[in-house]
Amino acid sequence: MLTNPNTLGLFDSQVAEIADLVHEAGGLIYLDGANMNAILGITRPGDFGADLMHFNPHKTFSGPHGGGGPGAGPICVRDFLADYLPGPVIVREGDEYRSHTPSKSIGRVRSFFGNVGVLIRAYIYIRTYGKEGLRKVSEDAVLGANYLLSKVRHIMDVPHGDRCMHEFVASAKRLKKEKHLSAMDLAKRLLDYGFHAPTVYFPLVVEEAVMVEPTETESKETLDAFAQALFRITEESGDLIEDAPHSTKISRPDDVAAARKPVLKWTDGE
Ligand SMILES: *Cc1c(COP(=O)(O)O)cnc(C)c1O
Repeated sequence: MLTNPNTLGLFDSQVAEIADLVHEAGGLIYLDGANMNAILGITRPGDFGADLMHFNPHKTFSGPHGGGGPGAGPICVRDFLADYLPGPVIVREGDEYRSHTPSKSIGRVRSFFGNVGVLIRAYIYIRTYGKEGLRKVSEDAVLGANYLLSKVRHIMDVPHGDRCMHEFVASAKRLKKEKHLSAMDLAKRLLDYGFHAPTVYFPLVVEEAVMVEPTETESKETLDAFAQALFRITEESGDLIEDAPHSTKISRPDDVAAARKPVLKWTDGE
């Protein structure tokens, strides 16, 4: 299983050769389709040599991302694997659609329709943009990420790659050493500037990782404001950083307690 573009926002142009080697050894390639934002209408997972993959509609096709929202996504396979798909699948015959369980299927692995709302939303997004529009989505996502990368480079180290696809991973390692400003501090303080906190401490190959993925929808003004906020935070110190965020109802919860004993209902005034 591999991800291309990968989690560092880098495209592996040798992916087809990797797939050839795996195929020669009798293996199959599963593509983690989490990063399709960068390549819509530009290149095809089939050309990478992938045998099967999933799409993440909640990432690539506008579904709400994070916060525990429901997920759903299609699994795509090459012809020779179609007989093994879990059933039922929908097949088209003329103008009719019929439910069908493939001949070598293990059968049902879950309720059939799943979170169908996520899929309808993705389908409408795809139909609204169309072929040219989807290509533009990726071009804008990649342009936005590279624009932001060129600005963030002056503030933080970005250890992997001079250019990126739709995302890049910066490191707060140096800031932590020189200014006691960790990736978590940055993420928390960004909330006070009105920005959704980026993913931090992932991927693990980058110390004090801050993963930035602006997406196709952010304007140049927003990207400039993000870079500006990041820069201003690096000039701050003390309580402003340590106790951030200051503008939210809850500031720094005990993460372990929050996971073990979640408070799942709103209680007014407490
Ligand atoms: C987001 C992500 C996942 C997880 O996808 P979900 O469907 O949101 O759980 C897996 N792999 C990579 C590379 C991702 O970026």
